[in-house]
This record gives sequence, C-alpha cells and structure tokens, in this order.
Amino acid sequence: MNIILLGPPGVGKGTVAGKLSEKFSFPHIATGDMLRENVAQKTELGMEAKNHMDKGLLVPDDVVIEMIKERLQKKDCEKGFILDGFPRTINQADQIGSFTKMDKVVNLHVSDELIIKRLGRRRICSECGSIYHLEYMKPKKEGICDKCSGKLHQRKDDKPDAIINRLEVYRKETEPLIKYYQDKKLIVNVDGSGTPEEVFELVVEDIS
Ligand code: AMP
Repeated sequence: MNIILLGPPGVGKGTVAGKLSEKFSFPHIATGDMLRENVAQKTELGMEAKNHMDKGLLVPDDVVIEMIKERLQKKDCEKGFILDGFPRTINQADQIGSFTKMDKVVNLHVSDELIIKRLGRRRICSECGSIYHLEYMKPKKEGICDKCSGKLHQRKDDKPDAIINRLEVYRKETEPLIKYYQDKKLIVNVDGSGTPEEVFELVVEDIS
C-alpha cells in the first residue's frame, strides 16, 4: 500500500509514519529527514537546501522531486511505502502521480494552538532522529534518546519565527492538496489531537 501523510508541521506525521512503518513493514520516507541528512553530510543538495530549511521555507520542487524519485525506485518500496512530508505542493503531487499510484492520503488535522505547543517543545535525537516532546513524550533521561543514547536537540526550524513561516507556507502551498486528493477520492481525515497511540489507532482503522 502506498500512503501519503498530509498535514501541517507538528501534527504528528513523523510519529504516525514511524508506527505505520513498524506495523506494515513499509519504509518510512520523510523528505525532511533525507534533506537534514544531506545538510549534515554537506552534500551539494544539502548546501542548496539548508538556507530554505532554516527559514522554514520550502526547498525548490525540482530538488525534492528528483530526490524522492530516486528513493522510490529502491527495492524496499516495491510492496508499499509511507511518504511523510511529500508532496507539499500541487506540482510535487502531479509529478509523483505521473509515476506512482497512491492508495490512501491521510490528512491529519489539529488546531494551530496545539501545533505551536507541540513544535516549541519538540526535541529530536541527533543520532537516530527519534522524536520526543518535553510534555507528552518525555525521554527517560533528560536530553538523552531512549533508543540510542544520542543527544536530543531542538531543530532550528522549530524556533518561533520559523514555525510561523512554516505554518504560512503550509496554508499557501500544501493545504490545497487536501482538495486535490479529495477530488481523487483518496483522502482520509484523522483528528491528530490525541496521544500518539490514539492517533495511530485512528489512522490504522481508517486505512484498513
Ligand atoms: P519536515 O521535517 O517535514 O518538517 O521538513 C523540514 C523542512 O524540509 C521543511 O520546512 C522544508 O524546508 C524541507 N522540506 C521537507 N519536505 C519538503 C518537500 N516535500 N518540499 C519542499 N521542502 C521540503
């Protein structure tokens, strides 16, 4: 099954995608993670992406589309995949639609108030990318990842100015994708305001 997780930053796409990936053994493909890896490794692609990312703006379509096309051709995507953070524009959706068929598009939604609360207190493992929250999903030991003992940090784009940009970009560029996939009868709307377990269960129910 080919699944897209759609929704604003901080809605919980990464958490749900990770759990879906475990349950169904499909790869979790997060363009944000792929771009951050490129930035960390200082590749040409990473150097181009960094400026946009730090400001909370989108990386140009052609860069992201090329990266995702390459990734989806890998063998582990043959039976299905979970896309997290892609597509984010109508052009990206058109492009991916021209070479892959989607089965479900899960639209996770929560209030802006909750997004700001979630992102501001989100922490990420600098080694394995696991996601924590200082209130809802605390690590056992402060500042340390439960899974790999890596150091937790706050993403640059989870700071207030970048959060506001990311929400604006989402409304303008990404939100129109809800109607786009509604017209294709692929949208499943899920309330993302519960705990990670609650949201995951709702998603599994709605895509089964
Ligand atoms: P995320 O981890 O999904 O919140 O993505 C972090 C940042 O990576 C975004 O704010 C964008 O700058 C960039 N990014 C991730 N996915 C895309 C995409 N599909 N198109 C353009 N930029 C993206």
